Amino acid sequence: MTALPQERRVVTAIPGPKSQELQARRTAAVAGGVGSVLPVFTTRAGGGIIEDVDGNRLIDFGSGIAVTSVGSSAEAVVRRASAQLADFTHTCFMVTPYEGYVEVCELLAELTPGDHAKKSALFNSGAEAVENAVKIARAYTKRQAVVVFDHGYHGRTNLTMGMTAKNMPYKNGFGPFAPEIYRVPVAYGYRWPTGPDNAGAEASAQAIDMINKQVGAENVAAIIIEPVLGEGGFIEPAKGFLPAIAQFAKDNGIVFVADEIQSGFCRTGQWFASEDEGIVPDLITTAKGIAGGLPLAAVTGRAEIMDAPHSGGLGGTYGGNPVACAAALGAIETMKELDLNAKAKRIEEVMKARLAAIQEKYDIVGDIRGRGAMIAIELVQSGTKDPNPAATAALAKACHAEGLLVLTCGTYGNVLRFLPPLVIGEDLLTEGLDILEQAFAGI
Ligand SMILES: *Cc1c(COP(=O)(O)O)cnc(C)c1O
Repeated sequence: MTALPQERRVVTAIPGPKSQELQARRTAAVAGGVGSVLPVFTTRAGGGIIEDVDGNRLIDFGSGIAVTSVGSSAEAVVRRASAQLADFTHTCFMVTPYEGYVEVCELLAELTPGDHAKKSALFNSGAEAVENAVKIARAYTKRQAVVVFDHGYHGRTNLTMGMTAKNMPYKNGFGPFAPEIYRVPVAYGYRWPTGPDNAGAEASAQAIDMINKQVGAENVAAIIIEPVLGEGGFIEPAKGFLPAIAQFAKDNGIVFVADEIQSGFCRTGQWFASEDEGIVPDLITTAKGIAGGLPLAAVTGRAEIMDAPHSGGLGGTYGGNPVACAAALGAIETMKELDLNAKAKRIEEVMKARLAAIQEKYDIVGDIRGRGAMIAIELVQSGTKDPNPAATAALAKACHAEGLLVLTCGTYGNVLRFLPPLVIGEDLLTEGLDILEQAFAGI
């Protein structure tokens, strides 16, 4: 197979006629509840490009939602997963085990924060990892309550829907939700009433007070937070917030869980975003970037906590599938070899400089934030902090029409987020930012 040219090319309307034909078939056959950001049907993807059935080549600022950090079909992922496909596709680790699963767990112990003894369990999806983190924390503490945060996102299964903050589209009409989930404030600097400098201390004090008064620290099994909140709007909790919450958990025998499903594996310019303020989570959930596009997820943490559930209490038919494990080994090898943490930091440098220049010209850019290749802008009405979801949608649409795939997020639907593959070429990155700037001029 020839390498996919790393060049944007727009040869039809987007979506083009062949995509529209497929979309009609899809509408007839695929459940309406499953949406798509941009219904162009993919034929190939790699590096920073997605090619569609009409021959268009889009610049990828989404990575399939922070998954293909090493690029789609990365060489080491294809090589290792293909070899594994030929050897065996499945035994079920709970029936007869295999080395790849163990190797992934060894690497997770090496790469996650902290030098304590660690163990891992592997699953298929992020939501499944979060569910299992809760099971493990409950088994360890013999407590039930789970504390989560405003703007948090943890998945679409019943327990994780309950843990997710935003109603539409994730929860609306899908209740009742699991009990013993409590939501407390997060230090959202841009929107904190007394300003970003006070947000860390004030929000952590409020959160801790709510836990003490409304739940009782002695009833809390786990506090779960994304070190950079993803779907909620790429919110970096203001400085001091995460250390205060982690310390409170430690002082009260609560398992502190970092949900690094979106922020992990070099995305923020570090192996894990927790490292930024020296946080060492008791448990950490990973998925998305871990396996170069194959479905794999993990819970990793302190050996004594991970070993709390009885034998046979954790698992699943496909969890830690051998092909997905081989892919993860290829993805992690690629991250190390290409130093993708450095690439993520370079992406941040290039993006933030350009976004700052755009903000100078367009005052609807209220905030620029994020780390590494997890960067976002929050859009507001001119001269206010009122959310501007209309401009956000219009900008995304204009970018899509020019062959730049961008995603939106945020509780108020007013955040444009940029999650390019970490291997994207700098020329494509710059061209994507040019398109974004032109989109501002056009709306
Ligand atoms: C995507 C995501 C999940 C859910 O992962 P799935 O694989 O979609 O189940 C959970 N937590 C965070 C922070 C995520 O970004």
